[in-house]
Amino acid sequence: MSGHQEYSFFGAVEQSFDKAARFTNWDPGILEQIKQCNSVYRMHFPVKIGDKIEVIKAYRVQHSHHKTPCKGGIRFATTVNLDEVMALAALMTYKCAIVNVPFGGAKGGITIDPKKYTPYELEKITRRYTHELIKKNFIGPGTDVPAPDYGTGEREMAWILDTYLSMNPGEVDALGCVTGKPVAQGGVRGRREATGLGVFFGIREVCNMDDIMKKLGLSTGIEGKTVVVQGLGNVGYHAAKYFREGGAKVIAISEFEGAITNPDGLNEEEVFQHRKKTGSILNFPGATNITNSSDALELDCEILIPAALENVINGDNAPRVKAKIIGEAANGPLTPEADEVFASKGVLVVPDMYLNAGGVTVSYFEWLKNLSHVRYGRLEKRFTENQNKNILNQIEGLTGKKVNDREKTMIEHGPDEVDLVYSGLEETMISATREIMEIWQKNPSIPDMRTAAYVVAINKVATSYAELGIFP
Ligand code: GLU
Repeated sequence: MSGHQEYSFFGAVEQSFDKAARFTNWDPGILEQIKQCNSVYRMHFPVKIGDKIEVIKAYRVQHSHHKTPCKGGIRFATTVNLDEVMALAALMTYKCAIVNVPFGGAKGGITIDPKKYTPYELEKITRRYTHELIKKNFIGPGTDVPAPDYGTGEREMAWILDTYLSMNPGEVDALGCVTGKPVAQGGVRGRREATGLGVFFGIREVCNMDDIMKKLGLSTGIEGKTVVVQGLGNVGYHAAKYFREGGAKVIAISEFEGAITNPDGLNEEEVFQHRKKTGSILNFPGATNITNSSDALELDCEILIPAALENVINGDNAPRVKAKIIGEAANGPLTPEADEVFASKGVLVVPDMYLNAGGVTVSYFEWLKNLSHVRYGRLEKRFTENQNKNILNQIEGLTGKKVNDREKTMIEHGPDEVDLVYSGLEETMISATREIMEIWQKNPSIPDMRTAAYVVAINKVATSYAELGIFP
């Protein structure tokens, strides 16, 4: 099953689900209902590109309605297919359950290479896709709320919003029809970096657990840990940034065209700018090139962060991976075969459906903000300059640490939107990590952290189904 051709991502999710379901006591009918995708919408629509008509293939899958609206990103990539969108929608259900975000899971995708189109053409495709979703009631603040994913971002979300607004004039909560919007269009500060920051918070919490780190033969704490990041997209870039700022050392970064390594650590922003300028991550000053990008996954390091696509670590390469902790920033980067290998090697796999939940957690904050028609945080200064100085001196005296710029602004102005978002995200990731670890520790026959995370998710979704009953 480790070959790429016959690999089913949804099959892998089902396999992980079944593995975990054995550790629960739910009625098999309820388990089956949870596992299936409730509504699958596969569409084809024409778009005029130049003087040609192109038929575009796209999807939206709602995996679960145990809570509404459904929630999940929209992916633009040539690899998008029904199996993938179904798997990603299912992961969204479990992800939301683990972090207590009251949504059912969904996902969407358009099978295109976004780099092949001009912004104008992409806008036409995105707007037509949104129109198809509106026609079939697959979008709306109370039904299904898309967000960014691989290949999409704030720009696409703004187009989706504008199309929805145009077709639903006067709908008072319309801003909540999509999240990940630009801040000026009802977005929330901190959404862009949320997934990467959440990955950092989750891994930092794991690294702070003495017993876990002892078992792995690692020292407690994130400080000085060597990290390899695969993917310098939105998630990988921000994960690398927060690991570096948190005191870890990002010793390698990998992209399609290759990877670079520097044992003294890399600065993600400099690497990003180099790639933007030269068109390649390779030949970064002071770093060594690795021409085969997947070789970076096998580098000697303590923490490996796959932050690109699914199925990158499988039964073939897993035995060669040297990391002690694998943090799944991407969705589904490991196959079930890789899981088996790591469980037997004693490698800790911190699973996607909770570790990358930062995005949807902050999407929830954005959605709440849109529905409640409020602005978060305050911006006016609270104290006089002298009072500010005294407070800062006192804090520095008490903590023995210099207050940084962000903390200074927070003290002077009160928490701003981004402070509230970060602290909400931090609390969410820490609690979720502890909840999963607790279940795992209470039941030592659970083989790995992914299975423990699924047990937490299944229990929450099944409770919802059991309490709501079955219609009619
Ligand atoms: N696409 C992201 C994910 O896979 C975010 C989804 C959302 O914010 O709704 O979790």
